[in-house]
Amino acid sequence: MALNLVMFGPPGAGKGTQASQLAESRQVPQISTGDILREAVQAGTDLGRQAKAVMDKGELVSDEIIVGIARERLSRSDARDGFILDGFPRTVAQAVALDEILTGREALIVVELSVPDDELIQRLSRRRVCGQCGATYGAADGESPVSCASCGGALVQRSDDREEVVRERLRVYREQTEPLVAFYQDRPTFRSVDGNQSLDAVQTAIGLAIEAAADAARGQSATIG
Ligand SMILES: [Zn+2]
Repeated sequence: MALNLVMFGPPGAGKGTQASQLAESRQVPQISTGDILREAVQAGTDLGRQAKAVMDKGELVSDEIIVGIARERLSRSDARDGFILDGFPRTVAQAVALDEILTGREALIVVELSVPDDELIQRLSRRRVCGQCGATYGAADGESPVSCASCGGALVQRSDDREEVVRERLRVYREQTEPLVAFYQDRPTFRSVDGNQSLDAVQTAIGLAIEAAADAARGQSATIG
């Protein structure tokens, strides 16, 4: 069965790490909106040129352009047997369009990584980045290291990992994501996973959630069919 997956998760929840591990173990592409947008702009496709014109004006790229770029990406052969979407959909309009794009394909599974705000604020405030090579440290418990293990560079806090900035990022995330969770949560293929555990435990929980959602999807299509 194809793995057609959307993952949601607040900043600091470890969504990127989990998504890339999953993409590797399931041999499906991890599709991040930022990446496909940059790719389309670089490739100079029609949609990429439109997106660039909007971004050059400092405006937000419209749902229509984002959906067009996502549609293009999801139609490529490497996404035929599944994909992990990361950062798309971001609005209910995009979610509606995604359902339409996936018509006739296997059920969309939606996994939300859930972590309490206080825990995210702690994790992000412990995070340090190497000023020389960009390596990231210190999401784990305990004291943050002070120098980079790979290049010896000094570790600094990213300005957007400061507490007041993190609180604002979390507020924006909740504001954007709540309508999406409301849109998906009544589906049998929606699962919320406790992200406040070790990386391995979260990985296991996501695997189980995907299996349960796939079973629910099969049950549903058997009932309909
Ligand atoms: Zn370094």
